[in-house]
Amino acid sequence: MLYRFNGMTVRTRYAPSPTGEPHLGNMRTALFSWLLARHYGGQFFLRIEDTDQARYVESGIEAQMEALHWLGLTWDEGPDVGGPYAPYTQSERLETYREHAQKLIAGDHAYLCYCSPERLEEVRKAQQARKEPPRYDRHCRDLSPEERRAAEAQGSRPVVRFKTPLDGETVAHDVLRGSVVFQNETLDDFVLLKSDGYPTYHLAAQVDDHLMGTTHVLRGEEWLPSVPRHFLVYQAFGWEPPVFAHLSRILGPDRSKLSKRHGAHAALDYREQGYLPDAVVNFLALLGWSLDDHTEIIDRETLIRHFDLDRVLTNPAVFNAEKLLWMNGVYIREMPDDRLADDAAPFLGRHLGRPVDRELLMGIIPLVKERIKLLGEIVDMADFFFTDGELEYDVEALLGKRYAGDPAAALKALEAATERLEAVDGWEHEKLESAVRPLAEELGVKTGELFGVLRVAVTGKTATPPLFETMEILARERTLDRLRSARERLQAQSTHAK
Ligand code: GLU
Repeated sequence: MLYRFNGMTVRTRYAPSPTGEPHLGNMRTALFSWLLARHYGGQFFLRIEDTDQARYVESGIEAQMEALHWLGLTWDEGPDVGGPYAPYTQSERLETYREHAQKLIAGDHAYLCYCSPERLEEVRKAQQARKEPPRYDRHCRDLSPEERRAAEAQGSRPVVRFKTPLDGETVAHDVLRGSVVFQNETLDDFVLLKSDGYPTYHLAAQVDDHLMGTTHVLRGEEWLPSVPRHFLVYQAFGWEPPVFAHLSRILGPDRSKLSKRHGAHAALDYREQGYLPDAVVNFLALLGWSLDDHTEIIDRETLIRHFDLDRVLTNPAVFNAEKLLWMNGVYIREMPDDRLADDAAPFLGRHLGRPVDRELLMGIIPLVKERIKLLGEIVDMADFFFTDGELEYDVEALLGKRYAGDPAAALKALEAATERLEAVDGWEHEKLESAVRPLAEELGVKTGELFGVLRVAVTGKTATPPLFETMEILARERTLDRLRSARERLQAQSTHAK
């Protein structure tokens, strides 16, 4: 085991900033935190980090919750369900951060800084000119009481900055990456509390993780450079830091930064397209974790049983959209028919503009199950089962390659096939097939060529579930109606051609 948790109950959290639509990378972080808590029978909570007023997006919180709900990443405590450490929304905890900033000031770990944005900008420019790294020049670190009074008299609203030790070193631990030693002289006096009274992440997240009893902080690798600051904050408060695990980046297959170009979209877009939450969870779990060296399909219970930090990887994970699609197909095939019908019905319903006939849908499910990789694909694969009027298709499609330019021959084939189908006693697909199959040879065409005409006639499409099973489900009358309608179109075409 790579880490200890000292017999404590594991408490993890997902702490999004509501700045937009959550992406799959965000959900990976949430999933790993959730899995760790579930694995140890601990608690997983949701905390909203809405302290950046400039980047706040109104729908952001709802979008985060909806994505978590969709993936089944249930939280035990959070802004909506409450819990022993409520409130769980940082903008409702400003007093707590102010008190803690005060404590740091009182303990000489922080100070008020009155520098105006203009002055900070000048300092930055001068540093740039000298090719020095930009950082606060500590102008206000040692103000005399008179200087402070003067600044206050001018009405400037101060920020609170951390008083980073000028020498010595800070050791930051990451359970996945080991310890890193930072020389304090390279660190700056970062802001803890902004002039608008809102805390920065550096203050708020550490205070909350401590007060809320977080034992393991799982978060994105982009926070690594800030780790020494966070250890300094814990030290200054005299608190034991939680276990930190910085999850690897997720890259596109070309190893560049992951983007839409690689097929990565907002988490809820995947729901729209008909990805299954279980498939997405399985896929995300493998972005930086593995069960062993080869297993790809891992259900939720198995993930919970085996997930731990010792198999979490730090090298970048590669996002492979094709693999996700393949995985989704596997989950669709493994789903019980009635559940698949439940999940697929809304897609058809949206397309048709009305609820679908459940019994009919249940009959179709076995035909399409092996053929779709996304729930949304059922629309294209099966909408013709639900339409009553004339199908829309081109006569060209009906003719296919074989009969292109020869509608009279296609008409003849179609009429012969219709006649045989009409003569069938019963309407089981085996019977339908044995009635029509020999006709191809008699007509001197390939079965596929003959079936192609019939397929377009009864479905309006060239790619469908198996033809005769489709006819069986469509039932006699509807099938024959559609064949008749195709015959009329061919007749019109043949007369025209003459
Ligand atoms: N609010 C931070 C973010 O959305 C969370 C980082 C963390 O998990 O501590 O990036």
